[in-house]
Amino acid sequence: RVVVGTKVDQNHVNWVTAYNMLTGIRFTVSRTNAKMDRDLTDADFDAKHKFSFDITGNELTPSAKYDFKFKDYAPWVFRHLRSTFKLDPADYLVSLTSKYILSELGSPGKSGSFFYFSRDYKYIIKTIHHAEHKFLRKILKDYYNHVQENPNTLLSQFYGLHRVKIPYGRKIHFVVMNNLFPPHRDIHRTFDLKGSTIGRDFKEEDLEANPRATLKDLNWLRRNLHLEFGPTKKNAFIEQMQKDVKLLQRLHIMDYSLLIGIHDLERGNEENLRDKTLQVFQPGGEANEPQPNLLMRTPSKLESARKAKELRQMIKTQKPVPMDQTTSKMPDELQDPKRNFYFYADDGGFRATHENEQPGDEIYYLGIIDCLTHYSLIKRMEHFVKGLMNTESQISAIPPERYGDRFVKFISGVTKTREAAEREKAEEAAN
Ligand code: ATP
Ligand code: CA
Ligand code: CA
Repeated sequence: RVVVGTKVDQNHVNWVTAYNMLTGIRFTVSRTNAKMDRDLTDADFDAKHKFSFDITGNELTPSAKYDFKFKDYAPWVFRHLRSTFKLDPADYLVSLTSKYILSELGSPGKSGSFFYFSRDYKYIIKTIHHAEHKFLRKILKDYYNHVQENPNTLLSQFYGLHRVKIPYGRKIHFVVMNNLFPPHRDIHRTFDLKGSTIGRDFKEEDLEANPRATLKDLNWLRRNLHLEFGPTKKNAFIEQMQKDVKLLQRLHIMDYSLLIGIHDLERGNEENLRDKTLQVFQPGGEANEPQPNLLMRTPSKLESARKAKELRQMIKTQKPVPMDQTTSKMPDELQDPKRNFYFYADDGGFRATHENEQPGDEIYYLGIIDCLTHYSLIKRMEHFVKGLMNTESQISAIPPERYGDRFVKFISGVTKTREAAEREKAEEAAN
């Protein structure tokens, strides 16, 4: 898969869906945040609320461009999760709804999911299967409790779960989650590691045509790469990964991977890959030309402060946020919530260290993704494939327990400093 975003403008096939998603998020998030905070109850985990949007609007919902239905799941749980992950409510709304600027990630994967980035690249909307949706609702309490006990979790941070449906259209379920990759730094290499070797190879000869492709386990091993963490970071990383994988094993989850984006500090940002992937458009208007340094563009301090204040006020009074709301903060006001989290504290990522704990040359942007596949689903798909091809499936699904153990073993095995790797190599040669 190539990580190149396509802007979602009015000519885009998914424009209406994207518009409806963002309109629904804006409405439901400000609705929940308008209320006084309170403790969660058991009922909050099962809660769902349905809203109808149309061109005229009614006393409950504001008018929208299109007719659609929107369903909001467990809004209080997600409000608390966003707060655990230290998102500012106004910022969240600004990012996802200030203008309908989204970009769509390349072609969807095998699973058929679509990915959209918020205009500021902080959030990802992923459409998910009904089975994944049902499963997330089922495990929401376990996930929630895990996150309370492990705020530094490496698992995807879920911020919202919703559903949209246009008249006569199908139901589209989606989650909002953290984008692991930073808006302001080029990612020079991306890997998706599972700890398996079967089918885990991106054809090296295709790399030239696709220099930003996501590489896999065999490509990683072929390059003899490591997650170069000195003793302190290595321990913290492996310990957290083990805790996270324990949860996944207990919930019978499989098929997840460690996504790793590597930023090479020596190469820096000279290639400015980001500018090529992000484009801007405005609703109701002509698409803008791609703007360089869009993400660095900041309004005056006064203007920013005023906008943020207005937004907070609107959330309080539950007035709809105007569509043309623009970005609201100066760099020095940007209290990046990621700074509070151990694995995202080095400029949004986790910087390599040497054996002596001195900082290294890479920043790793990493996390465990795609963790909503229940074992039974894999089994079902396997049977389906087997039935179709009337042969044994090549990739036999291994049970979640073994999947997790293999995953932890592989990732731990490649987590070592440059010095340690060289030492081992020398020892091997000596034997
Ligand atoms: P499949 O089931 O076929 O593996 P999928 O549709 O479930 O695919 P994911 O595995 O979740 O998709 O993600 C596919 C790709 O999307 C990843 O390899 C990565 O490039 C990108 N991606 C997914 N989640 C994130 C994230 N949180 N941050 C950054 N990039 C992401
Ligand atoms: Ca995947
Ligand atoms: Ca998947």
